[in-house]
Amino acid sequence: MKQGFIEIETPIMFKATPEGARDYLVPSRVYPGQFYALPQSPQQLKQLLMVAGMDKYFQIARCFRDEDLRGDRQPEFTQLDLEMSYVHRDDVLALVEGLFTEMIPAVTPHKKLLSSPWPKFSYREVLERFGSDKPDLRFGMELVDVSDVFAKSEFKVFQSALAAGGVIKCIVAPKSADMSRKEVDALTEVAKSLGAKGMPTVAITAEGVKGSAAKFVTAEEAEALKSKTGAGVGDLIVFASDARAVANKVLGGLRLWFRDKLDLADKDMMAFAWVVDFPFFAFNEETQAWESEHHPFTMPKMEDLPKFDTDPGAVLSDAYDMVCNGYETASGSIRIHRRDIQMKMFQMLGLSEEDIQAKFGHMLEAFEYGAPPHGGMAPGIDRLVMLLADEPNIREVIAFPKNQTGRDVMADAPSAVEPKQLKELHIKFE
Ligand code: ASP
Repeated sequence: MKQGFIEIETPIMFKATPEGARDYLVPSRVYPGQFYALPQSPQQLKQLLMVAGMDKYFQIARCFRDEDLRGDRQPEFTQLDLEMSYVHRDDVLALVEGLFTEMIPAVTPHKKLLSSPWPKFSYREVLERFGSDKPDLRFGMELVDVSDVFAKSEFKVFQSALAAGGVIKCIVAPKSADMSRKEVDALTEVAKSLGAKGMPTVAITAEGVKGSAAKFVTAEEAEALKSKTGAGVGDLIVFASDARAVANKVLGGLRLWFRDKLDLADKDMMAFAWVVDFPFFAFNEETQAWESEHHPFTMPKMEDLPKFDTDPGAVLSDAYDMVCNGYETASGSIRIHRRDIQMKMFQMLGLSEEDIQAKFGHMLEAFEYGAPPHGGMAPGIDRLVMLLADEPNIREVIAFPKNQTGRDVMADAPSAVEPKQLKELHIKFE
């Protein structure tokens, strides 16, 4: 309020507002065969409010997404949606960072912020350094690229990864050189579940190097490895040699496994950071089509516009995520406010002219009225409360949550309805 924001409530029964999940639909009794969609977020509505001249909006908004559930997801959840006109990315980040920096000590005085101001990383950098786009920054164990150390390695696994254009990367787990066989096997399974073919290790001991890859490591390589990674006696070096994206993902996952096993993260520390410069498009291998990485109303970096036709994978977006302790706690973006760019975006997503008009005609029309440049974001409230309350999943901080398969087991919903109701809604089951 101090900052001049107006709270506005937007409808729950609306039209599909894509955020990458399936919609929950509400059949219309009055219009047979037609449906409302519950908003996956108030995204389009808050943008329309900007076009209408509202300037600064916020809302504690309920969002509905039909997607596979995990510990940090529920079919319906609550976020602090906000939108502002005439802003650049860093204006939005400064506002939200200020809000959280004031709020956290006020509501949970025992929680400490790791750094202020919060660090800002590019998407590429967090993947390379932490193997995740939502890194837990409360501890080190960063990924190290040791491809050069093993450029002439005799080890087939390393050789073939490099020959295929991949990389050799590693993490150093402190005081883990004596990990039991059983633990190494368990860890290897984790690595495989993340896409690794195997999990070579080198343990640094007082008697020299040990571990599954030790016999392939020359004395010279061992020295180079130690100096590049900073590993010392008692440490375990865990490798991933694969395509860059796979190696990063594997080591990112193993890093979290060690965090939990070695208790490396202070639970009272809140390590907030910004992640920026995301790719604009993601290629869906299944449908062989481009999809929007954030949502289709996100602005691409203007200088990348020409790459839409020539190299869509290289286009960066003006989107940003707020991350904390290994969770994505908010995402947002500067929005498209030009009809031609929005049109191009929908076309890239494979929508026909007809589809575009039917689904998003109202947005395109709004952009004809001189829409102001605008942007915003939406911190997840349940997820934040989960972190502040030291709970392992958001069900613990929601009254009457659904279980992991999306059921309300208390009321037994979803449930069958009266045939009369179905008839009124013109619904028949096959
Ligand atoms: N609509 C986005 C979401 O729900 C947030 C935003 O871009 O403001 O994730």
